[in-house]
Amino acid sequence: MAGKYDVIVLGAGAAGMMCAIRAGQRGRSVLLLDHAAAPGEKIRISGGGRCNFTNIHAGPKNFLSANPHFAKSALARFTPRDFLAMVESHGIAWHEKTLGQLFCDNSAKDIIYMLTDQMRSAGVDLRLRTEISTVEPVAGGGYRVSTSEGPFEAASLVVATGGKSIPKMGATGFAYRIAEQFGLPLIETRPGLVPLTLDPQLLQRLAPLSGIAAPAEIRHGKTAFREALLFTHRGLSGPAILQISSYWREGDEITVAIEPDVDVFVMLKAARQANGRQSAQTALAEILPKRLAQHFAEGEGISGNMADQGDKRLQQLAAAVQAWPVKPSGSEGYRTAEVTLGGIDTNCLDSKTMQVKTIPGLFFIGECVDVTGWLGGYNFQWAWASGHVAGEAA
Ligand SMILES: Cc1cc2nc3c(=O)[nH]c(=O)nc-3n(C[C@H](O)[C@H](O)[C@H](O)COP(=O)(O)OP(=O)(O)OC[C@H]3O[C@@H](n4cnc5c(N)ncnc54)[C@H](O)[C@@H]3O)c2cc1C
Repeated sequence: MAGKYDVIVLGAGAAGMMCAIRAGQRGRSVLLLDHAAAPGEKIRISGGGRCNFTNIHAGPKNFLSANPHFAKSALARFTPRDFLAMVESHGIAWHEKTLGQLFCDNSAKDIIYMLTDQMRSAGVDLRLRTEISTVEPVAGGGYRVSTSEGPFEAASLVVATGGKSIPKMGATGFAYRIAEQFGLPLIETRPGLVPLTLDPQLLQRLAPLSGIAAPAEIRHGKTAFREALLFTHRGLSGPAILQISSYWREGDEITVAIEPDVDVFVMLKAARQANGRQSAQTALAEILPKRLAQHFAEGEGISGNMADQGDKRLQQLAAAVQAWPVKPSGSEGYRTAEVTLGGIDTNCLDSKTMQVKTIPGLFFIGECVDVTGWLGGYNFQWAWASGHVAGEAA
């Protein structure tokens, strides 16, 4: 005999827990299944252990999707303020770090405790360490889920098993397999919010810079982000690179401007005027880390006194610093990507409920759907919002 529930949610991550809470609060009997030993493992490691749980400015513009309008409805119906109200009602201390990013003061675990506490209050039956083998529709309506703990049945099935990012943490791409099984279209998946790698030759030239961070504007076509850039022993990382990586495609070029708030050419001319006997490298080191200043000055073959450098030379040096074209060789892939771009094609989902338009009772939420946020708390906001609206309908 199969255990019977109103709703089965697959995946006890951010989206699955939020959905289970809302459905439970509505009086639905809810079973939440996960193969992991603990719920919300990605929440636990997120935001450097402090969970950037939302972004107060989150809106549709902060998300990538083949259908940019899809996320609007869910994001409007469960807003960053709504999640913040939950956080505050649980007495969790938080702070805004930068650019509207809200973090826990103490630990990401506070968010997990809050969610598991709410699940208990809502009567959600959470079963961990449960392997899911098959999912099938039941004749006459509903779904049967076969698991290592036996079969379960429910009228509604919500798939919240996330994307492919960080397989070491239990990411499986399971949601895409279920989508395929039900004949649903997928938007090609690829790693997002991921460091970019460089070809061995360039990497060798940049090796001395490994570990250096600087403010930068990274541009890809019309999209640009101003945040920190980090040189690593594999290539380029830091928030600005992670952001642009979601827009970048294999073979594309990006443009790097270091210290974008400074006009480097104007600064160099002023330095020449003020002290003609200093080197260009020393002048650059006023605004850049020393090793970076050395790299650019040497790279452009500029040595000797500033007084000996004409405007053209200074312009060339400024361009090297602020209009540096880089062609990444690839990305670090799902191993380190914070998110998976693409996924369940939103055209097959009802944007108000996350239910498959043509298959009653089947829902997809969270990262497995083709809605991917920028870095900065947007991905959790999507998980909360899509989970909430599905929990209202499942
Ligand atoms: C290192 C890191 C840091 C991050 N930091 C932030 C941040 O600070 N702010 C932010 O907004 N976003 C952050 N993100 C992104 C964010 O974690 C995800 O977007 C979010 O967790 C997606 O929620 P989800 O519920 O859809 O999927 P997940 O949180 O991935 O949950 C999916 C659940 O399904 C389970 N599961 C998977 N496959 C199966 C299966 N076959 N059977 C049973 N269970 C299964 C998993 O064990 C997991 O519990 C970060 C991501 C990473 C990797």
